[in-house]
Amino acid sequence: MTTNPLVKTLDFQLDIQSDNEGLLYDATLEARSVYNETIRLAKEGVDWNTIPDRVADDANLVKNTTQRVVAKALGAMENYYEYDDFGLPSHTKEGTYPLRANYEEGYNLTLTDEGDVAFRISAKPYKHVKGVLEGSDAHLDILKTALESDEWKVGTAEALFHNDTPELHVNVTNTEQTVRDKEDSRIVVGVDVNEDNVALTALSEDGVEDTLVIDFPEIKFERHRYFTMRKRVQNAGKDSIHDTLEGREERFVRDRLHKVSRHTVEWSQQFERPCIVFEDLKEMRDSIDYGTRMNRRLHHLPFRALQFYTSYKASFEGIPTAWIDPAYTSQRCPICGHTERANRHKKRFKCTSCEHQDHSDRGASVNIAVKGIKKHQDWNVPALNSLPVVRKVRRQASGAVDAPTVTHATVRGYQADGRMGVSD
Ligand SMILES: [Zn+2]
Repeated sequence: MTTNPLVKTLDFQLDIQSDNEGLLYDATLEARSVYNETIRLAKEGVDWNTIPDRVADDANLVKNTTQRVVAKALGAMENYYEYDDFGLPSHTKEGTYPLRANYEEGYNLTLTDEGDVAFRISAKPYKHVKGVLEGSDAHLDILKTALESDEWKVGTAEALFHNDTPELHVNVTNTEQTVRDKEDSRIVVGVDVNEDNVALTALSEDGVEDTLVIDFPEIKFERHRYFTMRKRVQNAGKDSIHDTLEGREERFVRDRLHKVSRHTVEWSQQFERPCIVFEDLKEMRDSIDYGTRMNRRLHHLPFRALQFYTSYKASFEGIPTAWIDPAYTSQRCPICGHTERANRHKKRFKCTSCEHQDHSDRGASVNIAVKGIKKHQDWNVPALNSLPVVRKVRRQASGAVDAPTVTHATVRGYQADGRMGVSD
């Protein structure tokens, strides 16, 4: 069995001191010209071993950083050769390019007395960009642990501009944990994250093994309640109370998301060699408008946080996670493959082609698992003629309680009486 080191990429925004932002921006433009020059030389047939030195001599960057950018460009070249689409116009581009740096060479991190993480990035030779990292608690907590413990190693980082905001993406490795290769899985668990539940489906070569829907209506409820309270005190000009409420809401939501993610991992562990698959919602936000349902999902719940917690906890159990493109996962019929927006009505799915009916979030989780198999496994997606009953649990402050079992149409062409018995 192949295993990999437990590596996490932690994303932060950079709160840069004084007017150093221009310096970082210039450096990312310089990184772009290093990238383009590397591609140009490689296309000319120059010996790849000589490229790092040739490019580094002319680049106005820290030498080690230049070498990292060159290595990344050559890696991209290698991929183009491998996939035989060498010569695509996207090969060299304009604009900024991430500044890739080794820890304690191209950049440095330190814990401050105030409990922040301060950064220092060598943007240009002898010119540093300094400030503090900002980001979610989930990422900051891991980074702080990594900086203080021998169990973790801080690795390379990339400084870049994302929608005009400077960011730092830091790789950390846990030296005592390994994660099984995701290609080496027997079960793929599709995870569909929603505002008030998460739907899990375990799919093997033989079909759907089981489905669980974990309901957490109180997260949605509490977030709406806090939102109203905050608006009220904000209108009254009481900013300090506003901030207190915000902190309380964040703690509440974080606590619940931790519990839901733990439940998800425990459920996945009952299967032999599972791989947990999520929708890559970050890519989606950057690219296209996916319609109101998706936009609402993105703004209403810290999806990324739930995915991150789950992936993090899974890693500590040695379980791999993977990410798939979210396009059409909620509109595709898992039985016949027919894809249409009209298939879905809130929590109810009814295929306009084969008339298959289901809990719509479960359907989405099946589709996510299907994409996960296609992307990472060498076995075939099974033909699905029927799906097992959806089991529901409700997450409450006191823990998980079983909700009534849902029954619904499971057979192709089944004519239901219009009701599905889904309690939504
Ligand atoms: Zn269908």
